[in-house]
Amino acid sequence: MTRRFYIETLGCPKNQVDSDKLAGSMVADGLVPTDDAAAADVVVVNTCAFIEDARRESIDTILALDRQRSTGAKLVVTGCMAERYGAELAEALPEADQVSGFGVPVSLGVKPAVPTLDLLNLPRPKSARPWAYVKIAEGCDRTCGFCAIPSFRGPQRSRDIEAILDEVDELEVREIVLVAQDLASYGKDRPGDLGAGSIVRLVRQVSARVDWTRLLYLYPSDLTDELVDAICDTGVAYFDLSLQHVSKPLLRRMRRWGDGGRFLRRIADIRRREPAAAFRSNFIVGYPGETEADHDELLRFVEAADLDWCGFFAYSAEDGTHAAALDRQVDASLTAERLAELRAMQDEITLRRRDELIGAEATVLVDQPGEARSTREAPEIDGVIEVPDHLAVGQFHQVRIVDALGPDLVADVR
Ligand code: SF4
Repeated sequence: MTRRFYIETLGCPKNQVDSDKLAGSMVADGLVPTDDAAAADVVVVNTCAFIEDARRESIDTILALDRQRSTGAKLVVTGCMAERYGAELAEALPEADQVSGFGVPVSLGVKPAVPTLDLLNLPRPKSARPWAYVKIAEGCDRTCGFCAIPSFRGPQRSRDIEAILDEVDELEVREIVLVAQDLASYGKDRPGDLGAGSIVRLVRQVSARVDWTRLLYLYPSDLTDELVDAICDTGVAYFDLSLQHVSKPLLRRMRRWGDGGRFLRRIADIRRREPAAAFRSNFIVGYPGETEADHDELLRFVEAADLDWCGFFAYSAEDGTHAAALDRQVDASLTAERLAELRAMQDEITLRRRDELIGAEATVLVDQPGEARSTREAPEIDGVIEVPDHLAVGQFHQVRIVDALGPDLVADVR
């Protein structure tokens, strides 16, 4: 009898890669994937524990899928929440048949608790889309004040270049999106055979195999000239800089490097090298000790940096982090006000920058009928480009941008 599995993935692109690999291991076990949770014998929820909202969404999803699953189907909870709150979660959610962290095989009923899978190096099914995430390392060696990831994902473990390249070849996609907690640090944990700066070699080798290579999440201190050049040489001049704030004293309280002045100089320098470069960044708002002056500095930065895309997130105190014990916690209503102000400012910038593209020509990759992206849009994160339905999926096309609908663009064939 055919046994089916259904996977719901929450959270970041790194989780998507884990889900793909989990799918690969279940296919190898003889199960077949289904898009219908009600038809599955195993329903897997790959959870996210990043902030409180993400945890709430994970719980809501688990409960919703519990209602949808058919009688006798197993409900398995994995991912960051299961890793971080395993026992607590299992107790609070009797609905789940199995709660297990990374690398524990998903089973039909038995409850193994021991990680036996090297999730990073598991094979994965071919991508159904013309692009795919590839995880190049797991874990993180930094100690950012707000972040609990190192405590449950562990220290950084970089993969072999050959294993990454093999995965890239097997996926047979047009675009590879490299992900890790801290991409630019790739190889630092392996001074013997890889070493600091290995990301440059890796990017060059990946981009020799696929049309587009994109990097998500670059900690700014490791963005060297060599890396900037390697990124520009891939033809995808897209820079996702993980800045988090710009006020120097606040960044130090966050246990992070840099300041707004340095960041602006780096961005200007990249634009001098590649005027068409696209930028994304993320910022945390309401970190303990964030003053009105810090907030104003961030507003001035956002205006001056003129980035294409920005995410602003309310600080959320995570158990066991440095920041959770800090004094001068910011009131939630004040954080909400600051968030709204920053988002309104960035929305205007994003919309203006999108409007400025009207009339331009672009090479786009069609992800699905009628929907494409240029190098300026990361999949699933940024806006998209509406294109004529007849353009072949998985192919590159030359188009002209004719309109902008908020963050999305509309294009015609030249
Ligand atoms: S770089 Fe900082 S924010 Fe990112 S995963 Fe590491 S500790 Fe967390």
